[in-house]
Amino acid sequence: MISRESLLKTQQKESLTDTLDFSKRFSSSKDAIKLFQHIFEHSATGMAIVSSDGYYLGVNPSLLEMLGYTREELIGRHFADITHPDDTKEEMYYLPLMHKSKQENFKREKRYVHKDGSLVWAILSVSNVYDEADNILFVVNQIVDISLRKKTELELREAKEEAERANRTKSEFLSKMSHELRTPLNAIIGFSELLELVSQNKARDYAQQVHKAGKHLLGMINEVLDIARIESGGMSLNMESIDLRKAVHEACALIEHDASKHSIAMHCRLPEAPIYIQADAKRLMQVLINLLSNAIKYNKEAGSIFLRSYLEDGFVSLEVEDTGIGIPEDKLDDVFMAFNRLGAEQSNIEGTGIGLTVSKNLVEAMGGNLKVESKYGQGSSFFLRLKTSAKSATDSLREIQATKPAELGRDLKLVYIEDNLANRNLMQSIISRNKEMTLYMATDGIKGLELIRQELPDIILLDLHMPGLSGDRVLEELKADPKTAAIPVVILSADATPQRVKSLLEHGASAYLTKPLEVRQLLQTLQDLSARQAVKPTDSSPNTGPTVTKT
Ligand code: ADP
Repeated sequence: MISRESLLKTQQKESLTDTLDFSKRFSSSKDAIKLFQHIFEHSATGMAIVSSDGYYLGVNPSLLEMLGYTREELIGRHFADITHPDDTKEEMYYLPLMHKSKQENFKREKRYVHKDGSLVWAILSVSNVYDEADNILFVVNQIVDISLRKKTELELREAKEEAERANRTKSEFLSKMSHELRTPLNAIIGFSELLELVSQNKARDYAQQVHKAGKHLLGMINEVLDIARIESGGMSLNMESIDLRKAVHEACALIEHDASKHSIAMHCRLPEAPIYIQADAKRLMQVLINLLSNAIKYNKEAGSIFLRSYLEDGFVSLEVEDTGIGIPEDKLDDVFMAFNRLGAEQSNIEGTGIGLTVSKNLVEAMGGNLKVESKYGQGSSFFLRLKTSAKSATDSLREIQATKPAELGRDLKLVYIEDNLANRNLMQSIISRNKEMTLYMATDGIKGLELIRQELPDIILLDLHMPGLSGDRVLEELKADPKTAAIPVVILSADATPQRVKSLLEHGASAYLTKPLEVRQLLQTLQDLSARQAVKPTDSSPNTGPTVTKT
C-alpha cells in the first residue's frame, strides 16, 4: 500500500513523469492486476475486454446494467450481436484497420441493443493492448451511456421542426388572408371615396369615416402581409449600394410637413460626405419613415428630432433621437412585439402597433439590426444598423472607365438575368466597352431561361433574388437541361454568406461574385471562363469547377 506521505516524499526526489508511472509503484504484477480489477469492477463507465476478432472476454457490472444482460450471456458473444445493424457495418470496417495500421484508439457514437430490445445510445472508445511482438493481445472497450442526451436532442429537433412547420402554416395563412381581405377592402375604400364626393352633410361625414377606417385597415393588412412574407422567406429584397445620407434626406422631406404641424424641429447631424450602405432602397425608406413618424407621433409639442450616424466595424448606425414621451423601462422589451402599443391605444395617437415589428424584420432581412434606448418622460433613440458598402453607382462608373477592356481573342455571348434596372444599366455600361462581348438581358427567371435556350450563350450572369422564379431555381433548371448544363453560370448577389456561396458552387455555379460589383473582378472572371472554354471546345462536362469567389 502506498501512503500519501511516501508518495509525496518520492515525488520530491523523482521527476513528475516517474511519479505518474504506475509500474514503478507496484512491487509485483499481482498488485497491478488487483488495481486493474478494482477499476474494472467499480467503474461507473461500462467496460469490456474484447478479443482481436470482436468477442467479449470480460465485461464489467456497469456495462451489464446498461445493456440488461448477465455476465454469462455476454461472455463469448460477438459485439455485432448486440449492436444496431446500421452501426455494425461501420464498426466491422474499423476492425481490420486497427490490425493493419496499428491504429490504437478510436471513438464513436453507436447504438447497442438492450436485452429488452430497446436502443442504447453510447460513446464507445476502443483501444488496443499489444504484446511485445506488436500483436493485439486485447481490445479495451469503454462505453458511456448517452441515451438521455440523444433523447433530449431528438425531442428538441422535433420540437424545432414542429415550431417551424407551425410558423410556416401561420405565415401562409396570414398571407392568404391578407390577399383575400384586400379585394373587398378596395371596394370599401373606393366606394366610400365616391360617396364622399356625391353626398352632403352627415352622410358625407359618415362616408369620410368609412374611407379613413378602410385606409387604416389596408395599411395594417399590408404590414401583416410584409411580416408573413419575411417569416416565410418569400420577401425578395433588392440589395444595392445606397447613400444613407440621401435616403435620410428624402425621408425627412416626406415627413417635414407632419413635423412642422407639431412645431417639431429636425436636426440632421449626418456628415457631409455620402455614407454607402447595403440595403433595399424601397424597404429602407419604409423603415426610415416609420422611425421618423414615430419620433413625431410620440414627441412633445415643439420638441426636437436629432439624426446622427456612427461608423463601426463595417456597419453604419443611424440614430433617430426624439425628445418625446419616452418608453417606461419595463416596457422596452415589448417595443418590437406585433400589435403591442405599450398603452398608446389609450391615447388619441393613431397607430397599429405593428410598424416597428415590420421595420425590425426588414432590417434583419437586410443583414442589420434595430435597437432602442429610452428614458421615460425624456425621449427615445432608435438605432438602425446596416452593413456599409464599398461604393456607389458613380464610383462603379468611374471604375468602369478606369478599367482596361478584357482581352478575349474571341467573341463572347453573355446573358444577364437581373430584375433591378440600375444593375442592368451598370452591366450594360461595363460590357459595352468590351467590343468582343455581346450582352443579352432578361428581367426575370422565366424570361431568362427562354432567352438562354434561344441564344445558347457562352456565359450566364445570374442574380439570385428575383420575383417569381429565383436565381437558385434558374440554376437548377439550367443544370438539369442537357442543352444548357455545360454553360458556365456566374452568380452576382449581395447575399454572400459562406454557406450560400458554398451551396451554389456545389449546385453547379462556376463563380460567385458579390455586389457591389468589382468591374475588374467581373472581367477577369469572364476572361478565365472564356479561356477555359477555348481550351476545351468539345468538353461537354457541365462544370469544370468554380473559379473566382469573393466573399
Ligand atoms: P404604432 O403604430 O403604435 O406607432 P409601432 O410598431 O411603430 O406602432 O410602435 C409600437 C409602440 O412603441 C408604439 O405604440 C409606442 O407605444 C411605442 N413607440 C414607438 N416609437 C416610439 C417613440 N419614438 N417614442 C415613444 N414610444 C414609441
